[in-house]
Amino acid sequence: MSAPGRCGFVAIVGRPNVGKSTLANAMIGTKISIVSRKAQTTRHRIHGVLTRGADQFVFVDTPGFQTRHGGAMNRMMNRVVTQALAEVDVVVHVVEAGKWSSGDAQLLPLLPTSRPVILAVNKVDALRDKNAMFAYVSRITAQFPYAAVVPVSALRDVQLGILLDEIAARLPEGEHLFEADTLTDRPVRFIAAELIREKIFRLVGDELPYGCTVVIEQWEENEEGARIAACVVIERQSHRPILLGAGGLHMKRIATEARQDIVELLGKPVFLDVYIKVRKGWSDREAALRELGYE
Ligand code: GDP
Ligand code: MG
Repeated sequence: MSAPGRCGFVAIVGRPNVGKSTLANAMIGTKISIVSRKAQTTRHRIHGVLTRGADQFVFVDTPGFQTRHGGAMNRMMNRVVTQALAEVDVVVHVVEAGKWSSGDAQLLPLLPTSRPVILAVNKVDALRDKNAMFAYVSRITAQFPYAAVVPVSALRDVQLGILLDEIAARLPEGEHLFEADTLTDRPVRFIAAELIREKIFRLVGDELPYGCTVVIEQWEENEEGARIAACVVIERQSHRPILLGAGGLHMKRIATEARQDIVELLGKPVFLDVYIKVRKGWSDREAALRELGYE
């Protein structure tokens, strides 16, 4: 009998901007999740799958960890986080080397004690005083019984293999849940729409209200390349100039940057057309269903 492989769910948690999305992307190897400076850009729970030898890691990028809201809202959101964490096999708690804020501290009581939690100390490349590392880690590990501690750089791909080893050692033995080449359980169309949305939020996120949805209207693909038409649906005519930018420069940049990411995702040339539609009363529900391909 051959040695059984391992397969399990892994959650990456941490306060905003510690590098959770970057870390997930670096480990999975393809850009799927949404990297952004804004805390709330990852609006969907994204699963990425990595198959490495006999081991399969199913990453659950838990979004929406929030400490800004007060009282009941905070408690409700925290319940969601705690519940999500109780359903995975391994939790990776990401912190930023040398930096510890109230956001980090507020996450500690939400970490499960019934699951192994690995502390990933990210951004070691940016740490000026490497000697301060030991004291920094000691202060954190004194507050929670971490199963392991791994200093990493998600951006520079430092020690990510070691982090994966530590995770793998704690995954349950069992059948793989996904085909070896599955990168995500979401269709590529959906990911493409997410990538376009990411660019929009990056460029005009502060000015544009949330009633902005990206719908893939056309998707033609063969071995040679892909032809994609995406529609940015906005609620009001007054949002159009914000999205366009002076001389349409915003839209050009959004389309150019999204196209580059989609080329990387598909590994072939992409012709991408992005246009704007104003749709009054376009409901979230209707938009969500269309994005998922139900019309
Ligand atoms: P998240 O909010 O936790 O998902 O964080 P992101 O993955 O969006 O990263 C936040 C910022 O930190 C981005 O500007 C990243 O490029 C940067 N970042 C992530 N990992 C590293 C790292 O290892 N080193 C450095 N120097 N920056 C990083
Ligand atoms: Mg993120």
